[in-house]
Amino acid sequence: MDFLTGGLLIALAVCLVGFVLRVRRWLHGRAPISSGAHEPPTRATCPKKTDDNDRRRRGIFRYVSAFSLDVLFQAHLARASVTRWIMHFLLFAGFVGLLLMHAMDGVFSYAVLPSYEPTLDPYQWLRNLFGVMVLLGVGAAAYRRFTITGLKRTTRRDDWFALAIIAGIVLSGFLLESAKIVSERVYERMVADYFASDDAAELAGLRMVWEEEYGVVFSESAPQPLSDAVDMSREELLALGREVNDFVCVSCHSDTASAFVSYPVSRALIPVAPVLDGAGGVNALWYLHVLFCFAGIVYLPFGKMAHVFLTPLNLLVQPTRPRPERGGDIQACGGDDSETMRAIGVDACMHCGMCSEHCSVAASYAVLGTKDILPSEKLSSLKRAKTEGLEDADAFIFAEGSFICTECHRCTDVCPARIDLQDLWISSKRALAAGERGGRGEPHRQIARYTAGQWAARFAGGKLHATVPEEVARPVMLADSPQTFWACVQCTTCTNVCPVVAAAEDPVLELDLTPQQIMNMLRMGLKDHVLGARMVWSCVTCYKCQEHCPQGVRVADTLFELRNIATARLRHEAMHGAAGDPDNKQGDGA
Ligand code: SF4
Ligand code: SF4
Ligand code: SF4
Ligand code: SF4
Repeated sequence: MDFLTGGLLIALAVCLVGFVLRVRRWLHGRAPISSGAHEPPTRATCPKKTDDNDRRRRGIFRYVSAFSLDVLFQAHLARASVTRWIMHFLLFAGFVGLLLMHAMDGVFSYAVLPSYEPTLDPYQWLRNLFGVMVLLGVGAAAYRRFTITGLKRTTRRDDWFALAIIAGIVLSGFLLESAKIVSERVYERMVADYFASDDAAELAGLRMVWEEEYGVVFSESAPQPLSDAVDMSREELLALGREVNDFVCVSCHSDTASAFVSYPVSRALIPVAPVLDGAGGVNALWYLHVLFCFAGIVYLPFGKMAHVFLTPLNLLVQPTRPRPERGGDIQACGGDDSETMRAIGVDACMHCGMCSEHCSVAASYAVLGTKDILPSEKLSSLKRAKTEGLEDADAFIFAEGSFICTECHRCTDVCPARIDLQDLWISSKRALAAGERGGRGEPHRQIARYTAGQWAARFAGGKLHATVPEEVARPVMLADSPQTFWACVQCTTCTNVCPVVAAAEDPVLELDLTPQQIMNMLRMGLKDHVLGARMVWSCVTCYKCQEHCPQGVRVADTLFELRNIATARLRHEAMHGAAGDPDNKQGDGA
């Protein structure tokens, strides 16, 4: 067995094992998203379970529409961002083109395309085009990661590694093709294989043609000693060489200049071509290219590149999943949540960062610095929690990010992989609230241990202040500024339109303070007295108060800012000191 076959078999075997392990994980969900409601055999059938004919018919239609619109044309991505769609299309179409017309040409191109040869036009030109498309896609992805602030934050080593492997495959391929164009050895091997002639004049003429028209670089400029063996002028030899070339070579070789990337690169290689050829440069580049490809295959099921298969899979299975009303439960499998569908969704994330760019509470990240506030990062933590478990500090950050989420649905609406993020957030919050690891980080829980008055005493009494470092007690723009409240006329409009107040049977008992009361206390400089009010923690950031305020007071923005300030203080205390732990009565200022 040669190196290529052996290496390919090993790489494919590793790849297969990787995907089998993934499927196994889908069937054995772990905390914090597993309810353990189903045994694996039942869960394996969840995605395709339907309970009536109508739903089944709709299921088939949804499969067809999901495959054509979302998988092939990536319509969901186009709706979210045309620029990203173009970038994705370049990567996807370019790579598929190279796969069919290069890596798998033995099984596809030779069988399907008329007179296919990799060095024949239009295929030679097309292969260069596909390579350029992939490189443009990689370049655009890297550029976005360097320049877009949100993405810079969320880009991981895994993303760069995937881009580096793809770029490595294509660049080494271009370099290999260029080295082949200039290689005398490759030329000699072709002549030996396909032109078994000992006619010195024909050999000399052919050599001249390949030097002048195909770009081969020979170690000696004149075709010695062949030209000495015949009594013909250079023009006559060239004419004879063209005849031979037309007869033997043209059916497999078009003008190398149509390889519009490799040919210019080959011109740049001319000064080093003889040395490169003599040192086995073509062989070395072939090994490099093949190793990059093997690395890509091995890495496929374990890293970001897995989304090439998993995102389409999710796009296919999610639309067939019965949809609840917003905020309701998904009854996908015998009335219980489908763990398998969730696990597929988690794995389908391509870490594009679009959800984080649109997240309603992303602004909190700027204040708190908790990375799991951003949905793309929260999903990564969820994935790690499933596979390897979270360290204490990471579990805390995950819990904090989870409970700051307002379930606004924006991330789910924009996700190009159509991951049902809402369902993931709700189920993981349930698991956390039920006391699984990380639940202690929930700020709502900590707040509920004391009344607003007790918290006010703690905040105002300086007990927590004393241990809050400078970077946590950072300057605040709204709650500390008189300009925020000077226009408030205490008309109570904000309170009257607030759905949270409306939902409370007794707002004073359930929420401590109403929005209008909070605005009034802030106006009086009593910021510390409102940080523990449950209104601050129950606000759903619907912005009705702010939209209806006749005086243009930024009520919702201010409440949101207060929540962030209180969270920063609580988190600092819970992670670094006992004073803020409500269970620790030593630090109790109440
Ligand atoms: S969850 Fe969706 S939008 Fe968010 S990073 Fe993953 S694929 Fe992108
Ligand atoms: S549902 Fe949560 S994570 Fe998603 S956009 Fe809204 S606040 Fe952000
Ligand atoms: S914040 Fe606006 S709506 Fe609320 S009490 Fe003041 S003026 Fe009225
Ligand atoms: S943003 Fe908060 S305080 Fe304002 S109306 Fe909505 S829930 Fe009430």
